Amino acid sequence: LYVEHPLGQGQTVPLSGAQAHYLFGVMRRGVGEVVTLFNGHAGAWAARVVEAGKRGGVLEVETQTAPQRDPPDLWLCFAPIKKARTDFIVEKAAEMGARRIVPVQTAFTNAERIRRDRLQAHAVEAAEQCGGTFVPEVADLVGLDRLLSDWPSDRSLMFCDEALAEEGAAAAADTPALPDGPWAILIGPEGGFSEPERARLRAMPQAQSVRLGPRILRADTAAVAALTLWQIRYGD
Ligand code: SAM
Repeated sequence: LYVEHPLGQGQTVPLSGAQAHYLFGVMRRGVGEVVTLFNGHAGAWAARVVEAGKRGGVLEVETQTAPQRDPPDLWLCFAPIKKARTDFIVEKAAEMGARRIVPVQTAFTNAERIRRDRLQAHAVEAAEQCGGTFVPEVADLVGLDRLLSDWPSDRSLMFCDEALAEEGAAAAADTPALPDGPWAILIGPEGGFSEPERARLRAMPQAQSVRLGPRILRADTAAVAALTLWQIRYGD
């Protein structure tokens, strides 16, 4: 269970109504039972339920069960698409070890705003269900122009370019390796990247254009494919 509370031996952790509902109502835990807690930066801890109610509860932290494990420095940058598919991308990025998730507004992106808090909650749920000790941060929506103008000189970018599907470029497995981290992946919206965007990205020294096969994948599929490719090549 994810808590926004310091974790250490003897700490008492109060639970919100939603956490109590999940732990006692859904997971059927009760007083005296032990649950695993993490707060994103202190590893995993065993904690015993000392109070369990409908609107809250209290846990007492006992021992550390796993050290903190942060994923490699990878950003997943993607153009938000329809709600359910955006949720899917955030969830998969959190499960697959992105350290930061950056929604990006591109020329052909339809979403004008995102619900950052909702997406952050999806990242928390994904981290909880995969037993991680880290929760990626979901950033605010940023324009592609701004993102690229501020791009760190040392961060390499896997630019997933759907035009390469048709151009018959080298397969992803044959593209030269990127330098050691930090890294980022960039996935476009349903309508792909505009020609000026593509030209700018192709000219960026930190970027490598990547082809994810000969077919144009849906943006959510492309995000998972790119994360898998990254994991195989550079992951921990
Ligand atoms: N119309 C579909 C949809 O509704 O999702 C296709 C979207 S595709 C244009 C979205 C993004 O996925 C692209 O901008 C690109 O980043 C990535 N992508 C899809 N297929 C790809 C491929 N074969 N190679 C590289 N990137 C790809």
